[in-house]
Amino acid sequence: MKIIMLGAPGAGKGTQAKMIAEKYKVPHVSTGDIFRANIKNGTELGKKAKEYMDKGQLVPDELTVEILLDRVAQEDCKNGYVLDGFPRTIPQADVLDKELTKLGDKVDFAINVDVPDENIVRRMSGRRACLKCGATYHIEHIPPKQEGICDVCGSELVQRDDDKPETVQNRLSVYHEQTQPLIDYYNEKGILKSVDGTKDMQDVFSEITGILG
Ligand SMILES: [Zn+2]
Repeated sequence: MKIIMLGAPGAGKGTQAKMIAEKYKVPHVSTGDIFRANIKNGTELGKKAKEYMDKGQLVPDELTVEILLDRVAQEDCKNGYVLDGFPRTIPQADVLDKELTKLGDKVDFAINVDVPDENIVRRMSGRRACLKCGATYHIEHIPPKQEGICDVCGSELVQRDDDKPETVQNRLSVYHEQTQPLIDYYNEKGILKSVDGTKDMQDVFSEITGILG
């Protein structure tokens, strides 16, 4: 079973990808993890990717796909995998499709974890962190006992730059521009399945398992 996870940053697709991987006993293939592993192990592909990253440039689609295909060619992926963070753009999806076709292979499902922007902004901007001990909170869901103060160590809680509404909005704009077109792309291929990502994590997962069987 080969699955692609789609959804905005903060929609919870990484969590669902991990849960799918566990239930169906297939690897959770996250592009971030593969990049880090290749760079850490000093592979040829990792060295090439690092050259771009050191210059602050984006890793080209061809190289990203090459690194990904190298990963999914490994033994543990022979019964399938869950792709998380790839493809991000139509050109990447096209290259993936072409390469899989060459191998006589295809993606079975593209699962879209659908969450409206305003929910994502609310989720992210409610996060608070303690920079001293690393504890994390959420003003609505996991509030500290005393507002603005860490339960564990008593330090002041802060909102990380990554969780500020303007940062979240920026990431969402990039997503809508580059990645959302993939929803139409996979819909046309007949493999798109959307689930309501505003629901509780377990309910979202039940919806997904209902689709995957
Ligand atoms: Zn603390």
